[in-house]
Amino acid sequence: MNAITNLFGTNVFNDAVMRERLPKETYRQLQRTVKEGKHLDNAVANVVANAMKDWAIEKGATHFTHWFQPMTGITAEKHDSFITPTDDGRVILEFSGKELIQGEPDASSFPSGGLRATFEARGYTTWDPTSYAFIKGKTLCIPTAFCSYGGEALDKKTPLLRSMEAINRQALRVLRLFGDTAVTSVKTTVGPEQEYFLVEREMFEKRPDLVFTGRTLFGARPPKGQELDDHYFGTIKTRVAEYMEDLNEELWKLGVLAKTEHNEVAPAQHELAPIFSTTNIATDHNQLTMELMQRIAKKHGLVCLLHEKPFAGVNGSGKHNNWSISTSTGKNLLDPGDTPRENAQFLLFLCAVIQAVDDYQDLLRVSVASAGNDHRLGANEAPPAIVSIFLGTELTEILDSIEKDEQYGTKEKELWKVGVHILPRFPKDTTDRNRTSPFAFTGNKFEFRMLGSSNSISGANIVLNTAVAESLRQYADELESAEDFNKALHDLIQRTIREHKRIIFNGNGYDEAWVKEAERRGLLNLKTTPECLPYFCAEKNVQLFTQHRVFSETEINARCEIMLETYSKMLNIEALTMLDMANKDLLPAYSAYARQLSEALLAKKEAAPGVDCTYEEELLRKVSGLCGGMYQKTKALEATLLELVHKDCSELEKAQYYRSVVFGAMNELRIVADELESVTDRKYYPYPTYGDLLFGVR
Ligand code: ADP
Ligand code: MG
Repeated sequence: MNAITNLFGTNVFNDAVMRERLPKETYRQLQRTVKEGKHLDNAVANVVANAMKDWAIEKGATHFTHWFQPMTGITAEKHDSFITPTDDGRVILEFSGKELIQGEPDASSFPSGGLRATFEARGYTTWDPTSYAFIKGKTLCIPTAFCSYGGEALDKKTPLLRSMEAINRQALRVLRLFGDTAVTSVKTTVGPEQEYFLVEREMFEKRPDLVFTGRTLFGARPPKGQELDDHYFGTIKTRVAEYMEDLNEELWKLGVLAKTEHNEVAPAQHELAPIFSTTNIATDHNQLTMELMQRIAKKHGLVCLLHEKPFAGVNGSGKHNNWSISTSTGKNLLDPGDTPRENAQFLLFLCAVIQAVDDYQDLLRVSVASAGNDHRLGANEAPPAIVSIFLGTELTEILDSIEKDEQYGTKEKELWKVGVHILPRFPKDTTDRNRTSPFAFTGNKFEFRMLGSSNSISGANIVLNTAVAESLRQYADELESAEDFNKALHDLIQRTIREHKRIIFNGNGYDEAWVKEAERRGLLNLKTTPECLPYFCAEKNVQLFTQHRVFSETEINARCEIMLETYSKMLNIEALTMLDMANKDLLPAYSAYARQLSEALLAKKEAAPGVDCTYEEELLRKVSGLCGGMYQKTKALEATLLELVHKDCSELEKAQYYRSVVFGAMNELRIVADELESVTDRKYYPYPTYGDLLFGVR
């Protein structure tokens, strides 16, 4: 064992710890709960809770918490200590099975979209035994799901677990048709690559926009940006390297498989990728990763920015969701196999994904919708807002030949038949080169690249799991009643390719021509959050989620409401922050500079009449003119907010108003302000500049 293997998982109540600390029978029963979703009875829960508590106390924990993921996008915890009073005035440390399994946090201030009436402020948290408990600081954290009194999901975990069940159900039906009786469960796997920025904490604190909104609302471009690409995969600076080392260690202690790290395209931007794991665990771990990234940055005098677009004109941050499906027997269902039968099965699962992405493009777009992410999608730094699939030429040609019953390749003289042929191996290189695609097949998994860096990965995976479950359901229905399985399979795959090939696009997703081509193909191009959110509640989508028991219609409406509300609130905070900065710092600074110019001009004229004053005169004119313009734009932005106060409108109309009116006024204000910054004496600028922020960490 070396230092890392010794460190890994030390703060996790994992399988090894359970095996060591639980009585054999308890361990076996808990395993059944974990693997088969069997109910855990109270007596067993008590034994588990007690062992967990003893372990946690040995590790220095004093409190426990039900750790959950409400709709705010971050995680929540309310700490209770283990102490219980005794009759003789002392305390003992206790933790019961009941406390392990269920909690009742007063949850009235978490967003519920109207699901939790105010008279019933309680929500319930329930232990998710498939995700290990862990210790953070002095607290034992129990991963839980969070529901309302009536059982409606109030979090991002519950529907994720439901969607995993949905795809498990349908995938098992399909596997049985291929004669597979060994597999007992099917789970999706995810490896999320996380991008982020690091800036000096001291500078961060001087920027109200970063503090209040996570992104810069003003800021002229520095002379150097990312054009040289010299940061990408470049040498990591010592401070950053120390930060990453610290971060890795803390993540490893929590059992997070942090694996690769490197600099990203933009200056000050970096990436961390873990080794993939089961989707719900990957989701928990990604939340923990984001939390630790921010906490550990503080220790190093840095701030970690997870916003999708902290700096205009510089690439923003996203998250690549690598997704696949694997069986309890350890097989990756998106891995083309070695036998004709395995290949046929692979092709069917591939079709299921193709159909799912085509049928539910709108939901995939919805799953990544946020005010922050709107800045990236379609801005030629991240995939377009149009959803399409990249398969690579080889695989696309094979699908073509199946569709048309034609031969594939030059050597083969026969037709390419599903279930008869072995697919050629796809070297990773040929499948992975196109980085402009929102949804790319990368050899044995799909990489969904539209997620924003601060997004929980839960939403995207709920949609993926459920949409693919639906394709598989249709396939199982059809194939179960087929007389000739092989023929039915071939026909089904052929038909699916024919009906859904419009979603396959191997070209450059940044190209303007693709926007037109996609429109011709009838693909959606939902550019903004208010534009895409109404699709969430479309009838076909309600049908999908209710049929697979992932969301009820009420839950869908509530979520849509919360997302719209969050969007409007975000934009409102941004607008108010801009006004605050303009009125209190920027306008006074530029006006002071104008005054200094005019004083200099007067002094010069007095000292040496007739001397050349072009510089001072022209600059004064320019600065004063821009100042006047900026003042007008500030008033205009103020007016857009005032107008809203008198408006009586729905959450959707409100979000639309913020997008079309307020956001427009914000951009106009920024343009003048940034121009002023670029002509004003450095000394007068009240904040750290883009140059300071982007190149400040040394
Ligand atoms: P890159 O995209 O940088 O080339 P890789 O393709 O090697 O890197 O892996 C990216 C991410 O995909 C990693 O987090 C990795 O663990 C994950 N990954 C690999 N295989 C799978 C799989 N079967 N299911 C889900 N994620 C996977
Ligand atoms: Mg990748």
